[in-house]
Amino acid sequence: MSNGTHYEVLARKYRPQTFSELTGQEHVSRTLQNAIDSGRVAHAFLFTGARGVGKTSTARILAKTLNCELGVSHEPCNVCPLCLEITKGTSTDVFEIDGASNTGVDDIRELRDNIRYLPSHSRYKIFIIDEVHMLTNNAFNALLKTLEEPPAHVKFIFATTEPHKLPVTILSRCQRFDFKRVTLAKIIARLREIAGKEEISISDSALALIARKGDGSMRDSLTAFDQVLAFCGTSATDEDVATLIGAVDRRLLAGISAAVFGADTQGVLEGIKKVDGVGYNMRQFCQELIEHFRNLLVIRSVAKPKEILDLAEAELEELRRQAASFSAQDIQRRLTLLVRADAEMAHATFPRLILEMALLKAATLEPVVPIQELLEKIKALETGAVHTPSLPWDAGRAAPAVEQRHEPRAAHHHKAPVTPTTAAAPVPPGDGSGGWERFVAFVLGKDPALGSVLEHGSPLKQEPGSMEIGFPSGSYYLTSAQDSDSLAEIQALAREFTGRDTLVRVKSIAAEAGEVPLSLVEKKKTEHEQRIEELRRDVAAHPVINEALRIFGGTITDIREA
Ligand SMILES: [Zn+2]
Repeated sequence: MSNGTHYEVLARKYRPQTFSELTGQEHVSRTLQNAIDSGRVAHAFLFTGARGVGKTSTARILAKTLNCELGVSHEPCNVCPLCLEITKGTSTDVFEIDGASNTGVDDIRELRDNIRYLPSHSRYKIFIIDEVHMLTNNAFNALLKTLEEPPAHVKFIFATTEPHKLPVTILSRCQRFDFKRVTLAKIIARLREIAGKEEISISDSALALIARKGDGSMRDSLTAFDQVLAFCGTSATDEDVATLIGAVDRRLLAGISAAVFGADTQGVLEGIKKVDGVGYNMRQFCQELIEHFRNLLVIRSVAKPKEILDLAEAELEELRRQAASFSAQDIQRRLTLLVRADAEMAHATFPRLILEMALLKAATLEPVVPIQELLEKIKALETGAVHTPSLPWDAGRAAPAVEQRHEPRAAHHHKAPVTPTTAAAPVPPGDGSGGWERFVAFVLGKDPALGSVLEHGSPLKQEPGSMEIGFPSGSYYLTSAQDSDSLAEIQALAREFTGRDTLVRVKSIAAEAGEVPLSLVEKKKTEHEQRIEELRRDVAAHPVINEALRIFGGTITDIREA
């Protein structure tokens, strides 16, 4: 590590000093070097890109290249006094200005005055303005005057993370270079190189963890590496690095993923317990899982995943191994569950529970059978290629249909004697349900209000010339039916319906009364319940449905009649 008295941060200590040392910005280096070699160096440069990707380092390298005592070539010598001054930031001809703190027009005026004088002992006066988008409009206008007619001895290098905030008048006068986020592999390679120079023992996966923390920024990655070294010294274990970086150990992620695909519910829950145990944010972990599954999906879906995924080779290999035995569809279905869980976790009081449920479901999903295969299976079952009884609910439907056929006839044969024959079953004493139903339907047609009262009545007796209707005692329906006008109307309608005078009696039924025929409303309700119960039984026993449930990994939540 360092000499012991003073620790120099890695980002400074290992700041690139030549174009060839710049990591991940080869397109910028090459263009700048070509311009220098051909003697066509612009007056003003604009370096854009995320923080920590090398904009300022490149500006300094360019400044040294232009002012190096050994002459303008495509790398600075880094040993002459002029190069060294620029490296140390003490050059009298290279000015580094922070746009964020020098936004005033006065500063720019001062700068303009300064520009007029020739460089003291270098080839060029070079102005490096960082975060140039922070300048005020007045400052930009002052700057623009200089840019319009720049003296031959002046060069501007602007750097910004937000080029869209710059006026077009400035943009159009600069040669622009867009810096890329540095790929993970390149950051890891650079970290490995530095670890070697610093004699630090650390694994590739720990370096990958640090590099990922930097999220494409070399400087942020180096800062994360600084933190690790400050804590671990020259030997950093994977666990220490994972804890310090606040990232979930990749192995934990891989472990849960393996448990999900291996239908190992125990492993899934133990994994989550571990993650929770180290105090990791559940939703963040869910998002890392999503990224992990997405990586698996990409690997399974495309021929060259390396061009899409920013992953180290070792990680790619591991993911390839994990993804090998699953179809893209299998992975996608699990990914969908996780994405849904992530959305739910945003507002949840128990995010861990939601993640657990999603992962348990993901772990118990049955493998996907192509829909065509499924359809063929069902077809085979239905055409009898595979032995199966006919749909049970067909049978269930047929049975009551036989009974119903007799019911309407009963009403027309109310004079027939009571016989056990099924051909012309009369209204059974005390149960005139068939005739009663038709009568109520008739009343509903004539007087809906009265009909709906009768729907709540029980047909206690229904004989030629007499009818007894019971209503629950104390009920609104009883009072309504007992009303003399209603009673007269029922009587009139009964006469119309049966073709003879009919005496109608309305009776009160005690709640606890035993053998009272059900009212139509009650009957309907009970019938519906029975029907659903029957369907549920039929459905649960049906081979095609069972096969579909098994294949899709589904459960029956609701049954509706078609
Ligand atoms: Zn030099």
